[in-house]
Amino acid sequence: MHIVCLDLEGVLVPEIWIAFSQRTGIPEFARTTRDEPDYDRLMRFRLGLLRQHGLKLADIQAVISGMAPMDGAREFLDGLRARYQVVILSDTFYEFADPLMRQLGRPTLMCHRLVVDAEGFVAEYRLRQSDPKRHAVNALKSLNFRVIAAGDSYNDTGMLAAADVGFFIHPPPGIAAQFPQFPVNRSYAELTAAIDSAAARLGD
Ligand SMILES: [Mg+2]
Repeated sequence: MHIVCLDLEGVLVPEIWIAFSQRTGIPEFARTTRDEPDYDRLMRFRLGLLRQHGLKLADIQAVISGMAPMDGAREFLDGLRARYQVVILSDTFYEFADPLMRQLGRPTLMCHRLVVDAEGFVAEYRLRQSDPKRHAVNALKSLNFRVIAAGDSYNDTGMLAAADVGFFIHPPPGIAAQFPQFPVNRSYAELTAAIDSAAARLGD
């Protein structure tokens, strides 16, 4: 049995924080894991910035509710789900993801939670565990699944390394160059073909 693990942002949906940056006109929100590989430092920076600008969870949710998956993402995902079990492994938060997951047909999502204070500000974030994508892949392998994974950024490399086969899909050139062991795909069609041939190669 094969399970396909996919990253969410930058793979199936646009980067939520970049959309938020564009909507608020605050350029500092556009910093992502592509720019800052230390996720904890990145999140502390974001929470500080939200507080500084008086922005609450509801402001972020308002932006997200106006977002849509990338062109072709739903069809790509539906096609995969017809042939494989698919799990989305993301460093986003359940409080953010819902409008987008609805548009994607609600695949299984493993991500994190936010802690919101009485005034509606994001007070803290709770990672479900450290290095969660790698742990999820290793857990699935321990259940005798063969895991094929695809992501676009630094925070996916643990997942790609742990998987039986790992792929990039449209990564920034710098990141692809740093991890040449993961083949690069430029479109959903290419990635679908790569996943199919990896699954055939891995066998049952
Ligand atoms: Mg990503």
